Amino acid sequence: MTGIPSDDKTKKKMTMTYDVTRIASHRGGTLEFGDSTPQGFRATAAMALEEVEFDVHPTADGAIMVHHDATLDRTTDATGAIRDLTEAQVRAATIDYGAGGHPISLAELCEIFRESAVTFRCELKPGPGGLAYPGFAPKVVAELTRCGMLHRTGFSSFLIETVDALQAASDRPCVWLVSPPVLTQLGAAGVLEVCAAHGIAEIGMNIDSATAELMTQVRAAGIHFGCWGAHDAARIDRALEMGVKVFTTDRPSLAIARRTAHQTARQMEAAQ
Ligand code: FE
Repeated sequence: MTGIPSDDKTKKKMTMTYDVTRIASHRGGTLEFGDSTPQGFRATAAMALEEVEFDVHPTADGAIMVHHDATLDRTTDATGAIRDLTEAQVRAATIDYGAGGHPISLAELCEIFRESAVTFRCELKPGPGGLAYPGFAPKVVAELTRCGMLHRTGFSSFLIETVDALQAASDRPCVWLVSPPVLTQLGAAGVLEVCAAHGIAEIGMNIDSATAELMTQVRAAGIHFGCWGAHDAARIDRALEMGVKVFTTDRPSLAIARRTAHQTARQMEAAQ
């Protein structure tokens, strides 16, 4: 017999609400500390939140670097695609608005978070042109294993091919990030079909695409629902009011303050 017994399915659906909506500091809190900066990651490691979101890319000489874009062009004083540069060349770039910081490796990020309670949400980005880096997922899993951080890592990707590769390379949770065009094209039913076909247990959507109805539909299928792009108070409040599992934010300090206010308001309501 295959599949989840119906009792377990019911239990799974019933438990798909969360006492606390998790906060993920997006790229180490881009709007507070610069984009994927050492200072942002160090600050995040000391914050009262649950996850740090970051993106990884391979270099020409086999290193794994933490950076959002596939190139250095937009957010640093250097140019070029990371996959075409050496680790030393990527490190030599200075990140804009980043207190003089330079891109760091995945191994260095592991060191920053070694003593922190904050867990990893590691996104595997495509390379220039939007295609997945060949063979990259097992390399990232191997590096996190070597650094002793795999057991504290969840993965994410917009690319189904990469989600498949991550799920084949490790048993760690993996979030499929559903972009607004994909949601528009597939609709909720189509998204759930893809989840079923690929064994996807959690999806993330842009907070501006997320509705309570959509979340209910996703959860009814036994799939966790989170959001990304909650970068201002209104969007953060919406994510908290919806009770999503997790949201990523470029403003982690603001998100913590809003969550505390939200929790206090809920407690006062309950006491009345
Ligand atoms: Fe990301």
